Amino acid sequence: MKRRDFIKKAGVSGLAVGSVAAPMIARADTKLKWKMVTTWPKNFPVLGTGANLLAETITEMSNGRIDVKVYGAGELVPAFEVFDAVSRGTAELGHGAAYYWKGKIEEAQFFSTVPFGMNSQEMTAWLYHGGGMQLWEKTYEPFGVLPAAGGNTTVQMAGWFNKEINSINDLNGLKMRIPGLGGEVLKRAGGTPVNLPGGELFTSLKTGAIDATEWIGPYNDLAFGFYKAAKYYYYPGWHEPGTALETIINKKAFEALGKDLQSIVRNACKMVNQDMTSEFTAKNNAALETLVNKHNVDLRKLPDDVLAKLKVLSEDVVTELAGKNPAAKEIYNSYDKFRKQVMAWHDISEKIYYNVR
Ligand code: CA
Repeated sequence: MKRRDFIKKAGVSGLAVGSVAAPMIARADTKLKWKMVTTWPKNFPVLGTGANLLAETITEMSNGRIDVKVYGAGELVPAFEVFDAVSRGTAELGHGAAYYWKGKIEEAQFFSTVPFGMNSQEMTAWLYHGGGMQLWEKTYEPFGVLPAAGGNTTVQMAGWFNKEINSINDLNGLKMRIPGLGGEVLKRAGGTPVNLPGGELFTSLKTGAIDATEWIGPYNDLAFGFYKAAKYYYYPGWHEPGTALETIINKKAFEALGKDLQSIVRNACKMVNQDMTSEFTAKNNAALETLVNKHNVDLRKLPDDVLAKLKVLSEDVVTELAGKNPAAKEIYNSYDKFRKQVMAWHDISEKIYYNVR
């Protein structure tokens, strides 16, 4: 908005400031109380603590002009109502992941992760320097919600299994907790995907109610004690190669802020996006060592031919999602173009380097 229009629309002139008719505009002396609802339990490792860090950072950087209080899943609204709560302004901020809203906006899944898709570094690059964020903003615009990248899990693990996976046929009849597009791929391989909340996974695996589960990576998986309930820990997490988390902001609340506070909110989101990604990297490597050396976990790579077949099935699932509506197509085209370009670059940079170091 041009400054003059802004002044006109907001009614902020020398005289109007402080008048009863002037709309709520955050000034230097404004003290706003913001709520942040999350899809994670309060203080949940990295995900919940990352949301806490975002709240603290906004509060500190704004010198208390925006005082953010975090609510864990179920405290103010249930986990899967976070988007609606931010949309209607029950909370000004939310923290979760875009694929949770697929029932409402199917194409939102492209903004979290795609099986065999981009990794964390590539996702952040697409979002902030490759046109992804503009499409994400357009996707949430009708709901009055503004998105920001909110951390990234980095490449996840394929999961915990009680039987060996030697061929694609071993997935046939497998009952596995695996959400989203990855679950759809498993279904096409003959398996039965189930979606269970994190808190129920250990018991379901231990009692044999499910044959396998994926969760996140070594750090979060260690905390849940899956090594006590399953024999094999498979990699790589083909289904979630770099899941972007999200911070969502109520658009009206954001637009009512001055430029300084808007910049604080936006840049705090960017900082936390990077910080959470780094924390996952640091904690996963330490936890992997504990799992292997202390708990003697049987670490296995999924066979190449199994991965190759899962990739073919994934391409079908992702292409079908792209064909569901024009918006999905537009996002897919942007994602896929960037993916191809960045792969060509990373094939001769990151990938080669990983192989020679
Ligand atoms: Ca996962």
